[in-house]
Amino acid sequence: MDLSAELREVLPGEGRVVTAGEELEGHGGGVFTYHDPRVPDAVVYPESREEVVEVLRFASENGVPVVPFGQGSSLEAHTIPVRGGISLDTGRMNRILEIRPDDFIAIVEPGVTHEQLNAALKEYGLLFPVDPGWDASLGGMAGTNASGTNAVRYGVMKDQVLGLEVVLGDGSVMRTGGLAMKSSAGYNLTGLFVGSEGTLGVFTELTLRLYPIPEKVLAARAVFPDIEAAGRAAVAMIRSGMRIGRVELVDARTIEAVNAYKDTSYAVAPTLFLEFSGSEPAVERDVEVARTISGSEGCESFDFEEDEAGREKLWEARHEAGLAIQNIYPGKRPMTTDVCVPISELPDALRHARETIASRGLDGAILGHVGDGNYHAVFPVDPNDAEDLATAEAVNEEIVDYALALGGTCTGEHGIGSGKIGHLEREHGDSLPFMRRIKKLADPSGIMNPGKIFGD
Ligand SMILES: Cc1cc2nc3c(=O)[nH]c(=O)nc-3n(C[C@H](O)[C@H](O)[C@H](O)COP(=O)(O)OP(=O)(O)OC[C@H]3O[C@@H](n4cnc5c(N)ncnc54)[C@H](O)[C@@H]3O)c2cc1C
Repeated sequence: MDLSAELREVLPGEGRVVTAGEELEGHGGGVFTYHDPRVPDAVVYPESREEVVEVLRFASENGVPVVPFGQGSSLEAHTIPVRGGISLDTGRMNRILEIRPDDFIAIVEPGVTHEQLNAALKEYGLLFPVDPGWDASLGGMAGTNASGTNAVRYGVMKDQVLGLEVVLGDGSVMRTGGLAMKSSAGYNLTGLFVGSEGTLGVFTELTLRLYPIPEKVLAARAVFPDIEAAGRAAVAMIRSGMRIGRVELVDARTIEAVNAYKDTSYAVAPTLFLEFSGSEPAVERDVEVARTISGSEGCESFDFEEDEAGREKLWEARHEAGLAIQNIYPGKRPMTTDVCVPISELPDALRHARETIASRGLDGAILGHVGDGNYHAVFPVDPNDAEDLATAEAVNEEIVDYALALGGTCTGEHGIGSGKIGHLEREHGDSLPFMRRIKKLADPSGIMNPGKIFGD
């Protein structure tokens, strides 16, 4: 079959189907991953639901794999077309269809990014809270059930998606959820599709929940003698019942990398980046509680970012911490763990991760959204050095084993892709057959992002 010619009949017009050059390469790797690249046979750019339907009908009739693609920032080879085929780029489906300020709802196409949506929401005094450290697409974020620094306050992607329009693997269209803030109408299909990593269908419309921008926002940096103390302080803040906005842990190695990358001069020591938000009196009270808790864990300094510029710089530094770590190891690629443990276990889990990394002689950094018990160890690896890769994988396995033994998960927010298939089998071996049956129902010809979530 001449795939390129056939696809041009499905999507006629200049630049709608690309089968050679840099654009193919841009869809065959990943911005921040150690996984081997593989270019797709074609990249297609649909502009409407009808065009997505046409592409999926063609692909299912001809058994051609289709990989939905947002910004390609997912970390476990999610968008790498490991079986070749079509990369379906939603970048041209980037319209904000409706903002309903009085209902706290926005309806968007999948290619809209979280920063694009928040820029449009500002004039209404509203925000969309999920904020991965890349300006990811909302379709991709629903694909991985993404979260970020705000999850401790607002929840993760599955808490924000009220409804979806989905084109299934055979080209049929289905809607889930609606405009209601809650619903008990049948199975929770929205929750099923969020986190499906492009293996069940393509989202062509998302209905999202919005929030008012808080009256007062204050950010602070609390520096600790070691990461366990920082972890204990984070847990105590959550336990105190305060409505913390953000509580992010960055270890000394991460701070070093951030200072070099962002030209900041933060103290090189384990640090909690904190944000308090709400009404003025509530923020004042929460700050005092956090300061007292930090003091009881040996906090060495507690500094405020008073103005908006300092606050923005702090969160920009946190969001780009992964890129900063990558930057200090030129020629290497990052392997990132993503375990999430019950919150009370967090300090011990951080100690275990640090000791495991050190015992194997690896140079890794630890950072995370610790208010949820979710943290990352990042090891820069040389993908062409089998020994380096094996050591990093062994450390990754140990960290995952530790989390699973506590009843935690191998992935708090990044998802499975092809990198964590073995981990998912260990975590949910008993429910995998059920997941496979769901996959078969939504995608009978098995064209949707094959090679992801499930092993062969
Ligand atoms: C520097 C950096 C920092 C990051 N920080 C965070 C973080 O804090 N929290 C976090 O959760 N993640 C983080 N990530 C990972 C990444 O940003 C998220 O996984 C994000 O959700 C991916 O969005 P994307 O638009 O890049 O999607 P892609 O990578 O393009 O796709 C992600 C998955 O969704 C599927 N998909 C894409 N579009 C659709 C669609 N329309 N319909 C159905 N399926 C679709 C894809 O097939 C794929 O399986 C970070 C990544 C980087 C590089």
